[in-house]
Amino acid sequence: MELPTVASIAVAAPLDRTLSYLIPQELRGVLRVGHRVKVSLGRRLAVGYVFGLAAAATEGLKPVLELLDIQPLFAPAHAAFYQRAARYYAYPLGEALRTALPAGLSGSGCQPAILRDRLYRPTGLTGEPAGPRQRELLAAVRDLGGTTLSTLRARFVAPHAPLQRLVDQGFLAVEEVERSRDPQAPAPMVAPVTVQLNLAQERALGALRQALSHSGFAPFLLHGVTGSGKTEIYLRGIADVLARGRQALMMVPEIGLTPQLVARFRHWFQGRPVRLAVLHSGLGEGERYAAWRAAARGDIDVVIGVRSAVFAPLDRLGLIIVDEEHDASYKQGEGFRYHARDLALLRGQMEGAAVVLGSATPALTTYQRARDGQMTCLELPERVADRPLPGVEIINLAACAGPGIISPQLKEALAATLAAGEQALLLLNRRGYAPFLQCRECGATCRCPNCAITLTYSRVERAVRCHYCDYRQVPPDTCPRCGGAEFLPEGAGTERLEETLLELFPQARIARMDRDTTTRKGAHGRLVTGMETGAFDILIGTQMVAKGHDFSAVTLVGVVGADSVLNLPDFRSAERVFALLSQAAGRAGRGERAGRVLIQTYAVDHYALEFVSRHDYHGFAAVELQQRRALDYPPFGHLINLVLSGNDAAQVAAAAERLAATLDRQRGEVEVLGPAPCLLQKLRGRSRMQLLLKASQRPPLRGLLDRVVIGCRLPEGVTMTVDVDPLDMM
Ligand code: ADP
Ligand code: ZN
Repeated sequence: MELPTVASIAVAAPLDRTLSYLIPQELRGVLRVGHRVKVSLGRRLAVGYVFGLAAAATEGLKPVLELLDIQPLFAPAHAAFYQRAARYYAYPLGEALRTALPAGLSGSGCQPAILRDRLYRPTGLTGEPAGPRQRELLAAVRDLGGTTLSTLRARFVAPHAPLQRLVDQGFLAVEEVERSRDPQAPAPMVAPVTVQLNLAQERALGALRQALSHSGFAPFLLHGVTGSGKTEIYLRGIADVLARGRQALMMVPEIGLTPQLVARFRHWFQGRPVRLAVLHSGLGEGERYAAWRAAARGDIDVVIGVRSAVFAPLDRLGLIIVDEEHDASYKQGEGFRYHARDLALLRGQMEGAAVVLGSATPALTTYQRARDGQMTCLELPERVADRPLPGVEIINLAACAGPGIISPQLKEALAATLAAGEQALLLLNRRGYAPFLQCRECGATCRCPNCAITLTYSRVERAVRCHYCDYRQVPPDTCPRCGGAEFLPEGAGTERLEETLLELFPQARIARMDRDTTTRKGAHGRLVTGMETGAFDILIGTQMVAKGHDFSAVTLVGVVGADSVLNLPDFRSAERVFALLSQAAGRAGRGERAGRVLIQTYAVDHYALEFVSRHDYHGFAAVELQQRRALDYPPFGHLINLVLSGNDAAQVAAAAERLAATLDRQRGEVEVLGPAPCLLQKLRGRSRMQLLLKASQRPPLRGLLDRVVIGCRLPEGVTMTVDVDPLDMM
């Protein structure tokens, strides 16, 4: 057989097709699909991914310069999936791969360095050390029968010194070990119980097993209320698919949720030789690379990860699970704007796998797919163990006297919860101290010089800062415009809520969970563990606190404020609020004791809130879908958002007008809306205009995109981003 001489390569550059390169003599027979290579592109060097090999004429072709991997990063079967994905989102294939594959794949072979760790073991010396921290640490090590420093770091602040003292006193022995690349580090606690499935769970699992026995594409919506035991079904489904010699991929929305899931997973599969890899952006590059490599070698049975895990190179994929499938974090917000849930369905179809989308509040697009018969709906209408859903009360803020951010009702409920020794969770969907500073005299605010947005005030950081471009400055003492002396925080964020609570309940142990308190590695895990072990009485935070957690001692959930979500100028705002509040409410009363939910709002009459208070997803969906249908919005119509941006506002506007005119001439059945300034008119110094393409069928929309948008010429300095199925219209 003739050896291939030409490789088609997706170069990591804004190109809409693969390029052909000559395979040099020494790489013939060596180079394979999925290899990374170095090539020249114009006058620079670039990384590329091999997508095809052929024996063909080589005249005029530039050679592949270097092979960067020993083993390919993906198999030919995945190549087809990556190609479809990139094409669907109208993103250059090579750039898409750069997003999809583990970052930082520079340097050949990329052998990750060995990380060191310390393993502590109890010595058998009985008795207790003096300090409370030492006692706590010793108890933890004894509990686990021995554990590593990295594990303890995830649960305790600065454990090294007290551990050393325990070693010095002879309570612990220590040895230097290689850090496990198995990134289970934070070791949350999992109650060792094996549950007996209830009838609804059995039925759902039965349907899934049935599908798995046929080994073909089978999409499911697992619609189960919060606390209905969806995870138990995922785990059993995975066990089933593994027993059939195939692999499973499980996606979760947030990095923060993976340790809990991994712990539960390990517990469930205890004693069984299941090889698990975790893929998420919180891992070091070496760790991610190692996990990816292991998967590509076929050494992995289950991958757990966040949205990018949908690209994991699993060859015998039998089951894909997308937990909390409604979560917006499955959609990548910039660059390659893919939606991991939609790609999971595509992948399942291409590779003959079952796909389970699970949620208590399915995205309306998913729900409609199920209603259309495109997927099978499995319902878990009740919580496990006959636990009731929590009672929900709506509190009218307009009727509350005083300027406080905690209504008298919520204050009373908090006091009762604390008195009973139970935990509370408070949601306020804004971080920082206040959304802005404002002059009481002239009304001026501090605005970002780069973005069309006010700067958020953080007291902790003593700064006003931009949540988009991270611009920050020292907060002015007086109004920059009129010199007025009262330049003060307006509105409330999580920092201010924390302060207020400390004043109201000085004895309470309060923790805050938002993007500011969880950036450090392990920080999220410490907060979760703190809640699980009862180290905190009240956890406050942004939407992060509403997601997925299973804290059994939380009996009160308070929504301090979420009206900002309701007021977003977006056709999905009601859907978002419904999901956010239902999920938040779902954190209450998951244990023995019943839960209670208080929602503070100015929008008491909003239909979304009414359905939240009745736990009525179907009712909400019916009303919302009717409106969507009337306006031809998703799931009935389809959208593509085009954003043009550049430093020169007039030039951007002119380019947008020209593009709109061209689109209009060829639009066929597609509606062309705009151009209009984006909601965020300026971002990172660039002016932004948008054009929205809307159609009731996909093919004409796709056609217009291919004919007019892709490859269209824009003036120097103006760039365009294409967002297929946009989730937010910022
Ligand atoms: P969901 O993912 O639907 O919110 P989980 O799967 O996390 O729910 O289950 C919530 C809790 O209920 C977990 O602690 C789980 O172990 C427990 N659980 C699940 N199924 C049952 C069951 N059939 N009987 C008793 N407890 C159960
Ligand atoms: Zn900014």
